[in-house]
Amino acid sequence: MADNQIFCEKCDKPAVYLDREQGIHLCRNHLKESVEDEVRRYLKTIRLPETLGVAFSGGKDSTALLKVLSEIRSELPCRIIALTVDEGIEGYRQDTIKAATETCLILEVPHEIIRFQDLYGYSLDHLVSGSERNACTICGILRRRALEVLAQKCSISMIATGHNQDDHAQTALMNAISGDVKKVFTGYGSSSWYAQRIKPFVCVSEKEVTLYALLNGLFRDLPECPYAVSSLRGEVRTLLYQYEKNHPGAMRNAAQCEENIRAKLGGTYQQEAYKTCSICGWPGSGIICQVCMVLGKDTHLNPMTKEK
Ligand code: SF4
Repeated sequence: MADNQIFCEKCDKPAVYLDREQGIHLCRNHLKESVEDEVRRYLKTIRLPETLGVAFSGGKDSTALLKVLSEIRSELPCRIIALTVDEGIEGYRQDTIKAATETCLILEVPHEIIRFQDLYGYSLDHLVSGSERNACTICGILRRRALEVLAQKCSISMIATGHNQDDHAQTALMNAISGDVKKVFTGYGSSSWYAQRIKPFVCVSEKEVTLYALLNGLFRDLPECPYAVSSLRGEVRTLLYQYEKNHPGAMRNAAQCEENIRAKLGGTYQQEAYKTCSICGWPGSGIICQVCMVLGKDTHLNPMTKEK
């Protein structure tokens, strides 16, 4: 055994992870236990419904979340269903859908898939053709609706997403940079039309999530979405990693910042009232919702139209 071998703080096994903030090393079993305990702690604060949906893209974060939930499912008062949205992205989605399907079979979790092509009549590739720069905005709007449609079809009122602590920290900083206070409260006390979103990895770092997937043999080398170009999020991510390196705990503090603001001001913040979209009847911020704006206002071309 090498002299410089570092061991777990909790047992005598070789360490695989250093928690820089707490300054402790963990072996593979104790790292897995620590991630699962964080999720247990988070879920104890939530009143879970009969069925919990898990937004499952097949990527590492949602795969790790599905694995944790399947590990602790005997302790949960609900059953879990994986929900996947197929946006229709050539050279990317086929592989991730295949990985998602295989993972659900391994973990014995029921799996439902909804496709842009079936719901909207178009793939994302078709919709963004010629305006690829807006792909992520269009994708985000349509994917949120698609997930809601799938959740309603499966009678799901709560959806767990795989957003980790790093994602939250990046979003908090991006919201601060945008200067738009509404963004801090987006989704807070949202319409009863929408399934409630929960984020069990809010206190788990991206590194821990990645290692968890890796140590459980569920990490796959999947292609990147071709539309994922360098963005503000990429710059913010680099900045925050540097801060975290120099000031351990910075990421956690940034991630908790918005939670604290919501907890203190959420009750006093006046959420804008939802309007009903005149085309599809779903709630939105204007008389035509964002989904119908993206699909085109012409009701004859728009598959979301009520008249269809
Ligand atoms: Fe959609 Fe953008 Fe994510 Fe690709 S990178 S799946 S286009 S949000």
